[in-house]
Amino acid sequence: MAAKRREDRIPFFRSIQAKYALTYLLVVAAILIVMNTYPVLMAENMVFTSKESTLKQQALVVSSTLAVSETLTREGVEQTMTLLEEAQGARVLVTDASGLILYDSSTLDNRVGGYALTGEVAAALRGHDASRSEYRDRAIRTQAAVPILYHGMTLGAVYLYEHDAEQAGVLLSILSNLRYISIVICVAAVVLVALLSKTLTRNTVRLLSAIRRVREGEYSHRVESLGRDEMAQLADEFNQLTGRLQTTEEARRRFVSDASHELKTPLASIRLLTDSILQNDSVDMATAREFVADIGEEADRLTRISEHLLALTRLDAGAERASEPVELGAVAEKVVHLLSPVAQTAGVELKTAIEPACALLANEDDLYQVAFNLIENAIKYNLPGGRVEVAVSRREDRVVLAVTDTGLGIPEEDLPKIFDRFYRVDKARSRAAGGTGLGLSIARDTARLHGGGISAGPNPGGRGARFEAEFPALRGEVDP
Ligand code: ADP
Repeated sequence: MAAKRREDRIPFFRSIQAKYALTYLLVVAAILIVMNTYPVLMAENMVFTSKESTLKQQALVVSSTLAVSETLTREGVEQTMTLLEEAQGARVLVTDASGLILYDSSTLDNRVGGYALTGEVAAALRGHDASRSEYRDRAIRTQAAVPILYHGMTLGAVYLYEHDAEQAGVLLSILSNLRYISIVICVAAVVLVALLSKTLTRNTVRLLSAIRRVREGEYSHRVESLGRDEMAQLADEFNQLTGRLQTTEEARRRFVSDASHELKTPLASIRLLTDSILQNDSVDMATAREFVADIGEEADRLTRISEHLLALTRLDAGAERASEPVELGAVAEKVVHLLSPVAQTAGVELKTAIEPACALLANEDDLYQVAFNLIENAIKYNLPGGRVEVAVSRREDRVVLAVTDTGLGIPEEDLPKIFDRFYRVDKARSRAAGGTGLGLSIARDTARLHGGGISAGPNPGGRGARFEAEFPALRGEVDP
């Protein structure tokens, strides 16, 4: 048992709780990753584009101002540049067609006389506008270069460079804000996931423990209501299933105890009879014969009980029966013929009213069993001078075997119970008549096996009882 219990324990990483938690955390992580990258990239892109376009615009203004003669000279450029308003915060370089720097607005690192070797200048000297932005060392660095064109000739290039730490700071603060928010969301998600997954799995755990208790034989255990979701439905279904299991188990226990009791009674009688013969030295032959005959009767009763129990076991197993078209009237007549001597001995008149064409699809032996039980009971529980009427008729798409007697009848309160196993209205009479209390139960189960059923009630014509076994008629045999 202990080993089994250990087997039942699921490691956390394989539990539903872990799976729920992992799924939620993955979703939250994915959202946070997108939240931390996409808006920042978009903002950066927008800033870069706007900066490059502004710088290019400024470079174009300078370039068009300088493109007034065929040649560019250092003096000429310097003169023009002093007249121009300084580009806001940007460093301006002007080169000739070979890339030689003719003008540099920077005073700290003035590079006039050197060559401008950036890719943007090279592109501008080839006649194209070029620009580039990047974020490095906590600043946005933007460069733009445009050619100086004079009648289609590239005289040189204007190159602007801007180093902006302020906007970079804004971008960085957005990023750090997002990180801060992300951390808060992360902590909240972990707490929520822990709580939520616990709630979700708590019901599963309760259901699981209920299943285990029922498995251990505690059939009366029920799961408390778990709310109104699918888990609650599952719990309801489980409770109903356990209810049925409990009923079946109780019926099985009752059946076993009743069966043992039924078997014990004749065995006790046999023991008593044999002891009487053995302990009495002066027992005469006639008495001994009488006792042995009683022992034989008890043995017959044991045989009948075993046969009935076997029949019930076979019915419970629900083994498939071979079916064939059977005429119900013919079966009833056969049974009546067989039981006529019994009826005569009991002083009971046996009458039949059998309609033709009452066929059904069934097993003949099974139908025989049903008819025999009903007709034998009608004779057994009758009174001398009484009557039994066996009728076979057609009722729409059903065929009916009705057995009516003028016997003792069945009290109304006993009617619902007479089909229960081992139930007898009058125990002494049933035993005396060789009954086992299983006949009607077998008959009802057999009828059900062929899609039929048996009902019992009082004789509508007066004293006695009436039993009706009905079955679906054979198709194609319906009366016009
Ligand atoms: P048994 O072997 O005792 O006859 P059954 O299962 O055939 O067992 O019947 C159950 C009980 O129903 C009987 O013990 C009897 O009390 C009652 N019963 C059955 N058929 C009739 C009938 N035709 N008239 C009166 N009582 C009946």
